[in-house]
Parts: sequence; C-alpha cells; structure tokens
Amino acid sequence: MTGLPSFHYIREKVPIRAVAVELGLDVRNTTIRCWHPENHNNRDHNPSVGIKETKNYVHCFVCPDAKCLWPIDLVIDVNKDFHCLPKNQQVRESGLWIADRFKVPFIPKVNPKKKPADESWELGLTEDPLKLLVQSGLFASLSLPARSLAIALHALRSQKCRDHMAREWEVKASYHTLRKFSGIKSDSNIASALRELEEIGYCHREPSHPEHSTGPIKRSSVILVTPFSYDLMQLAKDNHASLQQASEAEMDMRRDRRRERQNEWQRKSRRLKKIATS
Ligand SMILES: [Zn+2]
Ligand SMILES: [Zn+2]
Repeated sequence: MTGLPSFHYIREKVPIRAVAVELGLDVRNTTIRCWHPENHNNRDHNPSVGIKETKNYVHCFVCPDAKCLWPIDLVIDVNKDFHCLPKNQQVRESGLWIADRFKVPFIPKVNPKKKPADESWELGLTEDPLKLLVQSGLFASLSLPARSLAIALHALRSQKCRDHMAREWEVKASYHTLRKFSGIKSDSNIASALRELEEIGYCHREPSHPEHSTGPIKRSSVILVTPFSYDLMQLAKDNHASLQQASEAEMDMRRDRRRERQNEWQRKSRRLKKIATS
C-alpha cells in the first residue's frame, strides 16, 4: 500500500483501550497499570493511568510530565524501540504499527511535482486549509460567529505544523484574544462558535486538566486547528455531493423553464403567422 495511514482516523476512531490491550498492557476496567513502574510505588499496583474513552486518550496521574496520550502517542511511549528515531519517523512507525493491527484507511501519497487539479480538495490534498471548508459549502452553513472564528483561528495558528503529517496547528489564545480578533462580543458566543467548529471537526480544544491544577481555571485554552481532520473531510465530501445534486436539480428546472418559454414563443409565432396568412 502506498501512502500513509490516516493519522486523524487513528486518533479519532481506533479505540485507545484496544490499542493498550494490543500493546500487552495490564488493562483494567477504567485504568491501566503504568508502564513506567520506576515512577510509582509498588510498581503501580493500584493502577494510575486513567482511560478516557470518550476522548480516546489515556493519562497517568502520577508520572512527572505525563501527557495525554492518544493511540499514536501511546504506542510511541510504550515501544522503547521507537525512541531512538527522529520524531516524524516515530509517528510514522507508530501509525504503521497500528495499521497492521486495526482497519485504518490510507491517504494516497501526494506527488509534489503534479499540479493539483481544481477538485483536489476533495481528497484533502489541497495545501490551503480554508479551501476545503469554503468549497464544500460547509463554511456557508455555519453561523456568522463560527465563520468569524474559523477565519481568526486560521490566521492565529502557529506557523509550524505541530504534527507535520496530520497537518494540525496550535492556537494558544485566551477568550479575550479570540474576542478581539474575531469581533465576537461575548465569551459565551465564543464558546458556542467553538462548539460548532468542533462539531464539524475543524478544530478541537485540548483537554485541560483542572484535576491537576491548583489555581482557578483560566479561560485560556490551546485549540488545535484541524482543517484536514477525517471527520471534516467526510462531511465536506457529503456536503459537496449534495450541493452538486441541488445545483443539478436547479439546472434541470432552468432547462425546463427555458423549454416552456420556447414552446410558448413558438405557439405565439404560429398564431401570428396564421393571423397574417388568413
Ligand atoms: Zn505512570
Ligand atoms: Zn492529560
């Protein structure tokens, strides 16, 4: 198979619990025994790693510097063999390891020399993150605040991809900053615009961990802009197809109307001719 497994698909659809089982970890009901026993008392006899099935990640509550680990990260963290590889290769190897064990769609390889066709966004091969959103008609279906926020997030995203292959970008911004740049007036409108964009898969908020922090919860978040997420691309395809059907139907209607007009005109001219000849 050429190309790479869809990293978005793995992150969103390959169940984290099943990945942990495949890795041979000691998986319990809602927890896992940590695979870094050196950081724990009694080799983590009372499991410290929480499984967050709804968000598809695991998190150790004892290990210092523990992060949320989605399937790709978990495989890298557990497989010590990957640690000597450069970061990009780790991600790639981890993706292939998962694709060997779970059903994962592959994304075809992009030929950088080939000029992309106009419809290239359909495959998510476009380089322009807003193109997919706009051309699929999804942009037009959003509320005005969500549209403003989508553009603001696009402009505020970090220069560098956080993950080169998944093509997702970080935005670190407080609600205040988001209000300032999007023109949205209130925090609650920002929140609902964010929810709307999350629903279509355009972005998602990194989970914050109030359980770890001692101070008051700040309304500042890390937002991951994911304009090429698996969900967004599926939605874009469906939406584009139904838009095309609608415009075909409209064209049919126009053609029918045109025909009617022509018929009417012919009838009229025939009548006129009759009058002229009689
Ligand atoms: Zn741990
Ligand atoms: Zn976490």
